Parts: sequence; C-alpha cells; structure tokens
Amino acid sequence: MTNQSKLEQLNEEIIHCRKCARLVAWREEVARVKRKAYIDQEYWGKPVPGFGDSNARVVVVGLAPGAHGSNRTGRNFTGDASGAFLYPALHRVGFANQPTAESRSDGLVLKDLYLTASGRCAPPDNKPSPEELNNCQPFLERDLEILKPQVIVCLGSIAFARVLRIYSIRNSAWKFGHGAHYQLENGTWILCSYHPSQQNTLTGKLTVNMFDDIWKKAKSLIK
Ligand code: SF4
Repeated sequence: MTNQSKLEQLNEEIIHCRKCARLVAWREEVARVKRKAYIDQEYWGKPVPGFGDSNARVVVVGLAPGAHGSNRTGRNFTGDASGAFLYPALHRVGFANQPTAESRSDGLVLKDLYLTASGRCAPPDNKPSPEELNNCQPFLERDLEILKPQVIVCLGSIAFARVLRIYSIRNSAWKFGHGAHYQLENGTWILCSYHPSQQNTLTGKLTVNMFDDIWKKAKSLIK
C-alpha cells in the first residue's frame, strides 16, 4: 500500500470522526450560522484532514482549524490570516507551488511537505481542551507513522508538547522556543516555530524574516 493510499484511508476516517461532543457541536454550529462575509458559501464543518505531499520529508504540525478558515474551506490553513502568512513563506522556499490558498480547488500543491494538526476540529476560542487533544492524538500519530518524516515543524507550544508526548520525550531540557530544534534517537528533527496566528504576526512576535528562517532551517535539516 502506498503512503498516498494509507493517508487517503486515514483522512477518510478523520472526516467522519465525532468523538468530541463539544467540538462536533461547535464546528457544525459555526458552519450553519457562518460569518456574514461567507454567508453564500457552503462551510466544510467537519474535521479537517492532513494535506500535502504523501512522500514528504517535512511534516508541519499546527494547532487546530480556524472556525472560518479551514472549518469553512476544509483544508489546513486555507482561507484565513494564518494561511496568508504561512503559504507565501512556503512558496518562497519552494515547499509550495503558489503563495495563495483560498479553497480546496485553488491548484495549491505542496512539495516535500505535509500539513497536519494537533486537533482536527475547530474549537471555541481556538482552544481545544487537553481531553480533546488526547482524543485526536492517534490521528497525528498515524500521520507520523505513515510519513516517517525527517523533520517535524511544530507551530506553537501546544503542537510541540503533543509531539513530545507522542515520542515519549520527558527531557526537561527540550523547551519550546522559536527556532529551537532537537533530534530524536531515530534521527528525526523536531523544529519549533511560533504559530503564524494574527496574535503573533500583527504584534511582530513572528516576523516574515523569522518565519523564513524556520523553513530554510527545515530544508537544511533534511538529509
Ligand atoms: S477533534 Fe479529533 S477526535 Fe475530536 S471529534 Fe474532531 S477529529 Fe474527532
């Protein structure tokens, strides 16, 4: 079975998941009520599966879908401000064929990179609970099992904590910080980055140059 068919099978399972009652209610409520600007659009309103190159050597782990971003469009970081910061950076370094991401049919192709998340359903206030993240963790584990990446880029401290948990790392010296990177015994690198949320990009906590450095570093860590 190829990686692509394994990921397709996994993603099919993900989009039918209804394990977290609070998130199922929220994602569907948002999809029904909609934001005024998108009132004519049909929202996805389901768990958002992984997206990208099925032979990627770099896997990017985000937090969870935005209510009116990927919960609307059905694809990671698509149709919101975080994506408008992320995809141009991926394009500049050659991981994406275009800098824009508007919908699942916009022609965007990722090369050598796969995008996934700690939680697959949009949470209220962008905050999944620890229990919800635990419920969702097996999906991320399976992404990582299938892809066996050389580099895992963690966008934000929650993604970093989740990845450490998956690999049973209890080393207190492994702390989250922008640009911090650590190597697992199996050779895989874990590279930390601030999340490209508006809270970080509008305040200057994460600048374009700082983010570009992450993707250059990710490339340099590939064997
Ligand atoms: S967050 Fe994950 S485990 Fe919970 S309902 Fe969504 S897909 Fe299922």
